Amino acid sequence: MTEMPRTSPRDRYDVLIVGAGHGGAQASLSLRQFKFAGSIGLLGDESEPPYERPPLSKDYFAGEKSFERILIRPAAQWAQRQIELLPGRRVTAVDAIAHRVTLSDGLQIGYGTLIWAAGGTPRQLPCPGSGLSGVHAVRTRADVDAILSELPAIQRVVVVGGGYIGLEAAAVLSKFGKQVTLLEALNRVLARVAGEALSRFYEHEHRAHGVDVRLGVTVTAIEGAHGRVTGVRLADGTLLGADMVIVGIGIIPAVEPLLAAGAAGGNGVAVDSQCRTSLPDVFAIGDCAMHANAFAGGARVRLESVQNAADQATVVAKTLVGTGESYHAVPWFWSNQYDLRLQTVGLSAGHDAQVVRGDPAQRSFSIIYLKHGRVIALDCVNAARDFVQGRALVAQGLILPPERLADAAVPLKDLVPAAAAAAG
Ligand SMILES: Cc1cc2nc3c(=O)[nH]c(=O)nc-3n(C[C@H](O)[C@H](O)[C@H](O)COP(=O)(O)OP(=O)(O)OC[C@H]3O[C@@H](n4cnc5c(N)ncnc54)[C@H](O)[C@@H]3O)c2cc1C
Repeated sequence: MTEMPRTSPRDRYDVLIVGAGHGGAQASLSLRQFKFAGSIGLLGDESEPPYERPPLSKDYFAGEKSFERILIRPAAQWAQRQIELLPGRRVTAVDAIAHRVTLSDGLQIGYGTLIWAAGGTPRQLPCPGSGLSGVHAVRTRADVDAILSELPAIQRVVVVGGGYIGLEAAAVLSKFGKQVTLLEALNRVLARVAGEALSRFYEHEHRAHGVDVRLGVTVTAIEGAHGRVTGVRLADGTLLGADMVIVGIGIIPAVEPLLAAGAAGGNGVAVDSQCRTSLPDVFAIGDCAMHANAFAGGARVRLESVQNAADQATVVAKTLVGTGESYHAVPWFWSNQYDLRLQTVGLSAGHDAQVVRGDPAQRSFSIIYLKHGRVIALDCVNAARDFVQGRALVAQGLILPPERLADAAVPLKDLVPAAAAAAG
C-alpha cells in the first residue's frame, strides 16, 4: 500500500490546493513548471499520493496495472519540486475573509490563494439497502481495492448505471467471468453523453459479451441478509439475485465548504473563464467547477474529465504567475471497454444530426455530431485517426457536407482547408 506519512502542515501556504486528484496535482506541477516560487500545499483526504482515476474502472481494476504505475508522479518527486503533500486531511470549512481553511480535526491553515479541486462524491442510490455491505462505488483506489478483495467469493454482480463507469466496470467483471447484470433507468446506455447509435452499439457489445443489459428499469430496494447484499428489487417487482452491487450513477460535486463560505454556485461552484470563484483569491477547477464552455454553446456546465481538470489547472497556474489566459480548451475523453477504445472530442449534447463514418459492424467507426450543420463532436471507436484529425473540425466548428464526412476513404484532415476556405 503506497501511503504517505501524515506530515504537519505549515500555518500558511502561498497556494493551498484542496483535493490531490487530477486537477490539484496538475495545478501544483504547472505552478512549478511556470517558476512559481512560493510555498504550495497539496492537501487531500485520500491517504495515497496523487494517482490517475481512469484506470480504476479499467486496467487497475482488471489487475493489468499496479498502483505504482498509475501514480501521477513517483512519490519522491513531490518533495523534489517543493510541493508539500498533505494526505489524509479533509477541509470542512473555508473562511474567505481571513483566508483560512479548517480541517476535520480542527486544525486551521492560512492561504494566500486557495485552489479548490475537490472533485465529487459518488451519488448513492436513494433507496433502502444502499448502505449494505457489498454495495460499492468506483471513485477511489480504496473503493476498487474493496471490490477486488470481495470478488473471489462472489459470482453475481449487478451494476447500476449505464454511464461510462458502469459500462467499464461491467466489461472488466465479465472478463473476470462474473455473471453481470447492468441496469439503466433511461431507455439507452450513455444517454447523457452520446447519441443513440453509439448507445446501441455498446448495448450490443455488452450483450455479446454475456452482460444482461436491462434498460428503462428502476431500482426500488437493495435487499440483504446479515448486513450484506443478496439482491436488487426493481420497480416491476423483479428480484435479481446479487452477491455484489456496483453503483455508477454520477457524482455530487464536493463544494459544500465553498458554498457555505458564500461562493456562488449550486450544482458545482461557479467560476469565470480563469476559474475564479466569487470569493476573493479562491479558484476552483475540475469536476466541481461549473463554467461557461464555448463547446457547449456557452452554457454553464461541469465537465468530468481528466482533460478539463488538467487544462483548468494550467489556466489557474498561468493566472497566478501573471501569464493568465482564458479557458477555451476543446473537450476530449476516452473509454476502454473490451477491445474497444472510444475517444471523444467536443460535446455532442444538443446535436441535431449525426453522421456515421465507417462500419460499426467492423468495430472501427466514428459518429460525427452536427448542430445547425456545424461539426460539434466526434465519438471515435477504434478510430484514432478520426479522433486526432476531427479535433480541428470541432475546434473550428466547420460546416461540412454530411456525405463528405461519411466517406471514410477521405481522411478528415483533407476536409479542413477546403471547408475553412468555404466558411471564411
Ligand atoms: C472510475 C473512473 C473512471 C474515469 N475514467 C475517465 C476516463 O477514462 N477519461 C477521463 O477523461 N476521465 C475519467 N474519469 C473522470 C476523471 O477521473 C475526473 O474527471 C478527474 O479525476 C477530475 O479531477 P478533479 O481533480 O476534479 O477531482 P478528483 O480527481 O476526484 O480529485 C479530488 C480529490 O479531492 C478529495 N477531496 C474531496 N473533498 C475534499 C475535502 N473537503 N478536503 C480534502 N480533500 C477532498 C477527493 O477525495 C479526491 O481525492 C474517471 C473517473 C472515475 C472515478
